[in-house]
Amino acid sequence: MKNIWTPWRMEYIEKETQDSDDCIFEAGKGKDHEKESLLLYRDALTVIFLNRFPYANGHLLIAPTNHISDISGLQDAENKALFDMIRESVAILKKHKAPDGFNIGLNLGTVAGAGHPDHLHFHVVPRWEGDHNFMAVLAEVRTIPEHIENTFDLLLPDFQELLKSKGIHESNY
Ligand SMILES: [Zn+2]
Repeated sequence: MKNIWTPWRMEYIEKETQDSDDCIFEAGKGKDHEKESLLLYRDALTVIFLNRFPYANGHLLIAPTNHISDISGLQDAENKALFDMIRESVAILKKHKAPDGFNIGLNLGTVAGAGHPDHLHFHVVPRWEGDHNFMAVLAEVRTIPEHIENTFDLLLPDFQELLKSKGIHESNY
């Protein structure tokens, strides 16, 4: 029995919002990172947050910078940038966390389990052999914010490096 990937049950940031001003993916607007909101990366096309209520340590949320709910509303550049950032994020997590695998997924619409249906976002969840034995431990992470902050500090330099490598300057977002 290895029925442990249940993205439709994943809770993350539980704030109810409709309005883009309140949208969690708009946090840290105008900044390329912000620890308070766990924003690891922002450019004109994509944002990356550490999930405040992670399914596993290093659980990332990757979204278009634009407040878009429908995948068919993505521009080609956004579409490409999202997948590029998924690839880059996997590389960064591999480097720092040495996971044995990943779950990467997207919940579209409330019926599919999206907690924030108004702003589409991918989940990138690192997985380790036997981690289903550690659900209690992982659950504990939810209540210990400093674990998440440590992970933020660990991953941020690589995302900053990535931003620099793309030659993106503040005027771009
Ligand atoms: Zn939004």
